[in-house]
Amino acid sequence: MAERIDVLTELGLAPTWRLRAARGAGAPPAATGGTTSAAAPLAAPARGVEAPAAAGGRDARIAALEWRDFGADVDACTACGLARGRNRSVPGVGDVDADWLFVGEAPGSEEDARGEPFVGQAGRLLDNMLAALGMNRGRSVYIANVLKCRPPNNRTPEPREVEACRPYLDRQVALIRPKLIVALGRSAATTLLETDATIASLRGRVHRYRGVPLVVTYHPAYLLRNLPDKAKAWEDLLFARRTLQGVAADPAAGGG
Ligand code: URA
Repeated sequence: MAERIDVLTELGLAPTWRLRAARGAGAPPAATGGTTSAAAPLAAPARGVEAPAAAGGRDARIAALEWRDFGADVDACTACGLARGRNRSVPGVGDVDADWLFVGEAPGSEEDARGEPFVGQAGRLLDNMLAALGMNRGRSVYIANVLKCRPPNNRTPEPREVEACRPYLDRQVALIRPKLIVALGRSAATTLLETDATIASLRGRVHRYRGVPLVVTYHPAYLLRNLPDKAKAWEDLLFARRTLQGVAADPAAGGG
C-alpha cells in the first residue's frame, strides 16, 4: 500500500478532505425520511413511553412501513425516554435506492435542531469524504444513525434505546437494500455487530449486518480530533469501494 500521505496528496486530500464539487451541485433532492410525509399514518401517541406489551405489534408495524410513512412514524415514536428530550427526530437522509448506507451513532444538537443526520462539523467532514469518492448524500448514498433521537448531552446510547430504535434501522436496510453498509465509529460498529471489539480490530474486514456486507471506519467527529487518522479512514473507504465493486460484480457475495 502506498504511503498514506502520498495517497492523500495524490488525491488532493492532504492536509484535509476537500470537496471536489460544491455540495448539492446537480444532486437530486435528498429524501429525508423525516417529517414531510403527506399524511401521518398514525395518531401521535401521548408523549410518554410505550408500554412494553405493545412491543411485538410495534416491531411488526415498523417492519411493514413504507417510505411515505416512515418519517412520521419515527416522529411519533415514544418507545424510549429520548422522545421526551428531542426537538426533532432524525430518521435519515439520502437516496432511497442507495448502494451505500452510512450509519452513525445518534444525532447531535445540530441534527436534533434540523432533523437531518450529520449536519454539524462532523457532517461536513463526512460530506467531504463522500465527495472524495465522487458521491454525495443525494446520490447513491443514504445516511442514518443507530438512534433516531438525540441522547442528552450526546451521551453514548443505552442498550434499551438501541433495541427500541433497531426496528427502524432494520426497516431502512430492508427498504434501501444497500450493497454495503459503512459503520461510522466504534459505537455504531459494536452496536450493529454486537461485539465489544476495538475499532482497530474491526477495520479492514468485511462483516455482515442483516446479510449486507458491512465495513467499519472511524467516526468523522473522531477524525476531527485525530487528523492523522484521516489517512486510515481513506484506506477504509477505498476498501469499502473495492468491497462494493466485488459485490456488484458478484451479487451473490452481497447476500441479497
Ligand atoms: N454523529 C452521529 O453519529 N450522527 C449524527 O447524525 C451526527 C453526529
